[in-house]
Amino acid sequence: MIAAQLLAYYFTELKDDQVKKIDKYLYSMRFSDETLHDIKCRFRRELENGLGRDTNATATVKMLPTFVRSIPDGSEKGDFIALDLGGSNFRILRVKVSHDKKQPVQMESQVYETPEDIIHGSGTQLFDHVADCLGDFMEKQKIKDKKLPVGFTFSFPCAQTKLDEAVLLTWTKKFKVSGVEGMDVVKLLNKAIKKRGVSTGTNACYMEELRHIDLVEGDEGRMCINTEWGAFGDDGSLEDLRTEFDREIDRGSVNPGKQLFEKMVSGMYMGELVRLILVKMAKEGLLFEGRITPELLTKGKIETKHVSAIEKSKEGLTKCKDILTRLGVEPSHEDCVSVQHVCTIVSFRSANLIAATLGGILTHLKDNKGVPRLRTTVGIDGSIRRRKGLSLPTVRRLVPDSDVRFLLSESGSAKGAAMVTAVAYRLADQARQIAQTLAEFCLSQAQLLEVKTRMRTEIENGLGKATHSSATVKMLPSYVRSTPDGTENGDFLALDLGGTNFRVLLVKIRSGKRRTVEMHNKIYAIPIEVMQGTGEELFDHIVHCISDFLDYMGMKSARLPLGFTFSFPCHQKSLDAGILVNWTKGFKCTDCEGEDVVELLREGIKRKEEFDLDVVAVVNDTVGTMMTCAYEEPTCEVGLIAGTGSNACYMEEMRNIETVEGNEGRMCVNMEWGAFGDNGCLDDIRTQYDRAVDENSLNEGKQRYEKMCSGMYLGEIVRNILIDLTKRGFLFRGQISETLKTRGIFETKFLSQIESDRLALLQVRAILQQLGLDSTCDDSIIVKEVCGTVSRRAAQICGAGMAAVVDKIRENRGLEHLDITVGVDGTLYKLHPHFSRIFHQTVKELAPKCNVNFLLSEDGSGKGAALITAVGCRQREQEAQNAAQQA
Ligand code: ADP
Ligand code: MG
Repeated sequence: MIAAQLLAYYFTELKDDQVKKIDKYLYSMRFSDETLHDIKCRFRRELENGLGRDTNATATVKMLPTFVRSIPDGSEKGDFIALDLGGSNFRILRVKVSHDKKQPVQMESQVYETPEDIIHGSGTQLFDHVADCLGDFMEKQKIKDKKLPVGFTFSFPCAQTKLDEAVLLTWTKKFKVSGVEGMDVVKLLNKAIKKRGVSTGTNACYMEELRHIDLVEGDEGRMCINTEWGAFGDDGSLEDLRTEFDREIDRGSVNPGKQLFEKMVSGMYMGELVRLILVKMAKEGLLFEGRITPELLTKGKIETKHVSAIEKSKEGLTKCKDILTRLGVEPSHEDCVSVQHVCTIVSFRSANLIAATLGGILTHLKDNKGVPRLRTTVGIDGSIRRRKGLSLPTVRRLVPDSDVRFLLSESGSAKGAAMVTAVAYRLADQARQIAQTLAEFCLSQAQLLEVKTRMRTEIENGLGKATHSSATVKMLPSYVRSTPDGTENGDFLALDLGGTNFRVLLVKIRSGKRRTVEMHNKIYAIPIEVMQGTGEELFDHIVHCISDFLDYMGMKSARLPLGFTFSFPCHQKSLDAGILVNWTKGFKCTDCEGEDVVELLREGIKRKEEFDLDVVAVVNDTVGTMMTCAYEEPTCEVGLIAGTGSNACYMEEMRNIETVEGNEGRMCVNMEWGAFGDNGCLDDIRTQYDRAVDENSLNEGKQRYEKMCSGMYLGEIVRNILIDLTKRGFLFRGQISETLKTRGIFETKFLSQIESDRLALLQVRAILQQLGLDSTCDDSIIVKEVCGTVSRRAAQICGAGMAAVVDKIRENRGLEHLDITVGVDGTLYKLHPHFSRIFHQTVKELAPKCNVNFLLSEDGSGKGAALITAVGCRQREQEAQNAAQQA
């Protein structure tokens, strides 16, 4: 049964009998809720076939992407021309989109006749005609020289691969123009426009299909899909519902067997459907006392607008009488009531079928989103709504748990085309400017090779006796002369200071057949006021933490050897002495630079007067990492940190380290490569955003390379870019929020989250929202792109540095080919979704003669410090023995 309330007003006593008769006669055109539900399910199956990679080719409902990814955000502006071909009329519009609240969109339009011979002529004729009309329109509007962008609504199924390309799959409706199917209609149109000498702005021509509905799917940044549902049923799936009238319409159409659903619902066929029904009823004597006139038998004599007029409840019957009289059938009052009811049934069927397919789409969306309740707005082309009764209640009944709203798009598809053009225009212009901004971060292979070459130069400077003092990459000797050999043994304390956390560890190393390393550790925070207070406060705090740890382990009385991982540049004269060159990263304590940090630690322990320790080694975290990995993998002779900061170390030939006596063997050199570029040698690749980050840092002008590629700074670079893009109106609606102004708000871990491939755009938006950045879906796309660009450059320049290192080792050893392992630590490397991959790839490309293996250091620097301490203890014993022997 058709919902009673929808028909209620027809049930007057007078009409009752007549209506019942017609209802019975057109039984097959009236769908129960059950049938509608069934159609909904069938359509959903079809659309899912259309969306499926494997099923799309054979699917009837093609689900064509429209390449419209964005809905208007209100910042569109401009003057556009829209062509609307394929509806009932060929129209040209001029649409002005402004920020004027009262009248955001102004339109002027003109309808052009499309003669029959063109509708059935050649493609060239058709597009020449379109171009001629366009020329005429522009002349009349006096915009001949304005070069306005043109949007093109072409309401036929097209396969789109880009916004400005659309290959016509097949003509539908009354069109049957030869030589166009399989062609890019945008190209054809552009060609004709050129030929005609019409000057439109760009070649930009944007497509939009808004014929039946424009399904704006939330604002999740998914693409607007043109379902092309007109072809629903072309595989026979609607056979049981099609009536003899539908079949007859199809037989008489230009495309028999095609667009079967469209032929049941589209306004174009409503009049014909009604006419065919009336003919049959008259033949059977059910109408007009059996009178059949030539007019009634003529195709096209009842039009859709007649159907609409007849349906009107008030003056409908009068209209009906007029129309039927013109057909020469001399209708009685009862005839008019009957015909009116026929019209109602035909349009209700159309509306219900649309409601059912819409229900299929909405159910699909709802399940896809996995939401308990679907809230969405469906834009509806005016002409379809004007026909009776696409009923919201029906749709809601078919999709329980939904909040569906209809939004009437007044001037239908052409305004849609203009809006899409406006949106696309805005996006294209923005995209160009954003791309330009980010282009600076995209380094060519040649530029990366240049970074590698420069790093090599700085390495030589750091190692050379004469150049060392002025060198930026300091190449600090670590006094670690060999990697572990497996004989290390004993219990050691280790400290790890230098990044986000301060850790105290107890490391029990056992040598022998079953080598084991057992570790216990505790993490302590270092408050920012300590990180940037006095040196004494810092070391008192450290000693306090050690004291707590020893209590915790119950080892206060044991005088354990200690290795101190201190991840800042230190000049070492021995394993257990390190003079701090300067603070980096987040540290800035007074009275430490130029001092021996081992001495500062020893003094702190003395001040505390609670326990005693034997400080054996001061170790850079890169060296600790290398040693840890080398314990497992003997070919590991390079260490890399990609965490808060960025740094590397490697085994250099003693003969090359001119700052240390002796030419035999090797020593691990702490490169302190973070300072690469501090002499200006990277300034050509640094951007304004890098400079801004530098200016706001604790150590302006220092650690320029580190500031381009380490965890502490990547988020800040991103934040600075976002501020700039927002200022220029490309993001966050041009509003710079307090959040965005906050330094450090954009932590590097957010880059990792945002760049994750598994994340839908909606989730990116949620992350930004958590950060207090209220973003649209377009914003999320841009932010993601910015993050990706910044982290990619970081991984690449870091890879360029590493390529310089491994190639130097290869050359040191006079090898054509080097196999080597790099031990790596650092959260950026470990947790960022793309950093390590891009880093590896860059090393491979820039150092093709090296086969570099990467080993993640599990719990690197603490264990490494203990191993170095063990090596140091052994060395000390040997020296003591040597001294005893000599004496
Ligand atoms: P450190 O280098 O201080 O010893 P880590 O190696 O743990 O310590 O690095 C910490 C840094 O890693 C933080 O400063 C932060 O910038 C970055 N970071 C933290 N979480 C992530 C993440 N999920 N993805 C990328 N970087 C991160
Ligand atoms: Mg670390």
